[in-house]
Amino acid sequence: MNILTASLLKLLALLLFCVPLLAKAADAVRLSDFPTGSLGVHAAQLVEGESALGLDEALAQLQAGGFEPVATLVPDFGIGSRPVWLHLGLDNDTGVVQQRMLQAGVTWLDRLDVYVVHADGSRHAVHTGDELPNALGLTPGMGYVLPLQLPPGRSELLLRVASVDPMALPVALLTPDDYATSRLQFGYFYGFFFGFLIALGAYNLLLFIGARERSYLYYALALLSVLFCNVAYTGHGAGWLWPQSTDFQRYVILVAMVVYNVFGLLFASRFLMLAQFLPRIQRVVCWGMGIAGGGMLLAVVMGSQLLAGLLAFVSMSAFSAGMFALGVVSVWRQRPSARYFLFATFFGMLGVGLTALAVWGKIPFSMLTFHAAEIGLVIEATLLALALAHWMRQHREARYLAEQVARQDALTQLNNRRAFLEAAQPLLDTAVRHERPLSLVMMDIDHFKSINDRYGHKTGDEALVAMANMLKRLSRSSDVVARWGGEEFILLLPETDQQRAVNHAERLRRVASELRIPAGDSVLTMTASFGIKTLQPNMTLETLIEAADVQLYEAKRSGRNKVCSEPFP
Ligand code: GH3
Ligand code: MG
Ligand code: MG
Repeated sequence: MNILTASLLKLLALLLFCVPLLAKAADAVRLSDFPTGSLGVHAAQLVEGESALGLDEALAQLQAGGFEPVATLVPDFGIGSRPVWLHLGLDNDTGVVQQRMLQAGVTWLDRLDVYVVHADGSRHAVHTGDELPNALGLTPGMGYVLPLQLPPGRSELLLRVASVDPMALPVALLTPDDYATSRLQFGYFYGFFFGFLIALGAYNLLLFIGARERSYLYYALALLSVLFCNVAYTGHGAGWLWPQSTDFQRYVILVAMVVYNVFGLLFASRFLMLAQFLPRIQRVVCWGMGIAGGGMLLAVVMGSQLLAGLLAFVSMSAFSAGMFALGVVSVWRQRPSARYFLFATFFGMLGVGLTALAVWGKIPFSMLTFHAAEIGLVIEATLLALALAHWMRQHREARYLAEQVARQDALTQLNNRRAFLEAAQPLLDTAVRHERPLSLVMMDIDHFKSINDRYGHKTGDEALVAMANMLKRLSRSSDVVARWGGEEFILLLPETDQQRAVNHAERLRRVASELRIPAGDSVLTMTASFGIKTLQPNMTLETLIEAADVQLYEAKRSGRNKVCSEPFP
């Protein structure tokens, strides 16, 4: 990136030695001692008035001192400027003809006319710009690059630029070798950048197809639209993809900017769950998207490139600031994953903001500020991918927790009725298929109503928890234990015949009666009754439970604190 370093060095030099550089502006630049990077400070400029100037009139103005020195490395005239003339004096003091590559402007300039007037009066002209199909010298990522033949002696280089779109005019003269190197470097840079965005976009699209979560879709679409926008504004579109479609080229960059803003906001709304947690902000975001989208549609239908340009840049600036503000609000409201979002959008905003401002002419245009959006985007995209992964993990955990809660009894942490039925059915099916023994135990605490009446509901709850814990402690891991309702519990015992079930229930009955629950000054004790039914052919889970319930009723009826089952065969 020698252009970049050179630009930075020049900027530094400009700051330190402001006066001598400006004084040199009108002089010709000598080829033997040629400055690298943008030549803005060596040039002079003239903004056209009401009527367009031809080359002769421009030369006359130059003679008459109508051009004024350019104070910046990259002359910059913002959106909707009058056409501009730029003059650069070139002194070939090498004694032989020199071949140079003129690198001028940015690829979206509407019209660029390049004139070289040699000392002997001979002239050379090239007309290009993205308003013309197959624009000459349009070099993706670099601007317009045109070969120049410079005979010994002085030549005047004059550029006339007309563009409704933001008019930034970097001007550099490269040796053919430097140009080849530069092109290669830009090739690598964009290869990496586009490749990164395509891979990340495709990956998120696949995640959407797999996970059906719309955040991924919006994120992928935002990535792909910013990629498309970049392809368009770096000139890869006009240079390679649609060299003939000049009408399309007129609006495509501006429309792509707004499309990117809309998808970015859709993603942010979904990711930060604005509709749920910040509905008022969600409404503002919707209005913003509507105004930008509708306005752009109107501008295109009206055929106003100026309106479209202003809208696109206002939209982009508002978008960058808005995304960052959403991040700040979400961190402040402690929304999950908001911190990632804030960091990501900060870099994105910084980059896009710098580039938009540089192109708009509000801050100095340099290779760094021009490419800030791309650098910022790579950082932003990476952080947002991390944010999405983090967000997804939190969602999964929350859902898992919710499922757990839906299957669990809140007081005792035992399975609830639904979870019991879900777990019991397959065990019953297995036992039937393999003709294995299986028993079901229903248990109900005796006179629990009077325990509540005597000790209070809270102590009653503690008694239920103690009973549940006892059941958990004394059960095998293969048993399914659940709270059936109120003070009733249910146990499914696989691989357990009636005798073993009775033994197990007897043990539970004994331990239950030995439980001691502190209740104020006194101690609470309780007993429980048990009904058992062992699986027989042609029984369903429902009939098994009913039969166990009949046995429980029998235990209650015959005096409580008992285990009842059918008589042994
Ligand atoms: P029986 O020996 O015939 O089973 O008499 P019982 O009083 O235990 O039976 P009954 O079904 O008449 O009353 C059950 C009581 O259990 C009534 C209800 O208030 C109480 N109960 C149900 N769920 C809870 C609970 O979650 N916490 C507390 N503390 N009490 C509960
Ligand atoms: Mg009871
Ligand atoms: Mg009961």
